[in-house]
Amino acid sequence: MFPDLTPSLKAVAPDIRGRLLPNVALSDLTWLRAGGPAQLLFTPADEDDLAYFLAHCPQDIPVMVIGVGSNLLVRDGGVPGVVIRLARSFNEIEPLSETRIRAGAAVPDVRLAQAAAAAGIAGLAFYRGIPGTIGGALRMNAGAHGGETKDILAEARAVDRAGTLHVFDNASMGFTYRHCGVPADCIFTQAVFEGRLGDKAEIESSMREVAEYREANQPIKSRTGGSTFKNPPGHSAWKLIDAAGCRGLRIGGVHISEMHCNFLINDGNASADEIERLGETVRERVFAHSGIMLEWEIKRIGIPAGASN
Ligand SMILES: Cc1cc2nc3c(=O)[nH]c(=O)nc-3n(C[C@H](O)[C@H](O)[C@H](O)COP(=O)(O)OP(=O)(O)OC[C@H]3O[C@@H](n4cnc5c(N)ncnc54)[C@H](O)[C@@H]3O)c2cc1C
Repeated sequence: MFPDLTPSLKAVAPDIRGRLLPNVALSDLTWLRAGGPAQLLFTPADEDDLAYFLAHCPQDIPVMVIGVGSNLLVRDGGVPGVVIRLARSFNEIEPLSETRIRAGAAVPDVRLAQAAAAAGIAGLAFYRGIPGTIGGALRMNAGAHGGETKDILAEARAVDRAGTLHVFDNASMGFTYRHCGVPADCIFTQAVFEGRLGDKAEIESSMREVAEYREANQPIKSRTGGSTFKNPPGHSAWKLIDAAGCRGLRIGGVHISEMHCNFLINDGNASADEIERLGETVRERVFAHSGIMLEWEIKRIGIPAGASN
């Protein structure tokens, strides 16, 4: 448990309208279902409230944002400082024209894919298979089935650590494979996407294909963080992992999926330490076998158990 930051933050930012909750278990808010608490979880009421909070929160308090935690491993000691989670008022979708659609950063990717299909906007169907939010998709340049966030993003709004609002066009997002070059302190609040004129029935059919492919090829109902490692240039991470003999490899309550060996599966009660050790073991074995050092795609956040004492 961390000391409660609420009283000191309320003292410096008395007009906060959002919710502040101390010591919230992040295992309940992440797909891997492991790890410690957030020292303070802040759910801003809206974009102005977020900007007000960031402008007033003392600079020595670390601040980070999470989406639905589908790409996160929270370490067992939890996350010191403030974890921000966007909710209701960041959850709106609005078609702007025959090819443009706006979505709040808390909107699930799947819901944006469905709304774009309903509006006859093609090009966003790949979001049907990604279980994160738009905020996470912007930060990770999420992509699948030949599409990537960078292909459809027109502009994104974000608030920085000082509470200043920025608008980034596609070129200034600095997108590369599973990466966005916007400074790490920027919290995305909404984005506008540019698709193509499409046929509703065709878009819906490609979304069904995406969903069926996922069901058949990925352990999507398990406690996982999706692809654990990025594909190194010219290679598939899963093939390297398989060739290094790691399919099914286990440490404590976590194992490498038999179905897709770039996925780690928490059987139920794995600690974050076990999950991270399994990942590091895989990296060592792949390096020994192929000379390639895999890079984590899952973001590891927070501190190990006991590190705050
Ligand atoms: C079963 C499964 C399948 C997956 N398949 C794919 C796939 O095909 N393709 C793919 O790309 N990914 C895939 N993923 C990974 C994951 O869904 C994506 O990376 C997703 O974009 C993460 O979104 P999130 O809301 O869960 O973000 P989180 O996991 O909560 O956070 C991920 C990162 O985004 C940052 N972030 C979150 N919200 C914001 C915001 N508002 N502003 C700024 N930064 C923010 C966080 O700080 C963190 O650095 C899969 C995951 C699972 C569990």
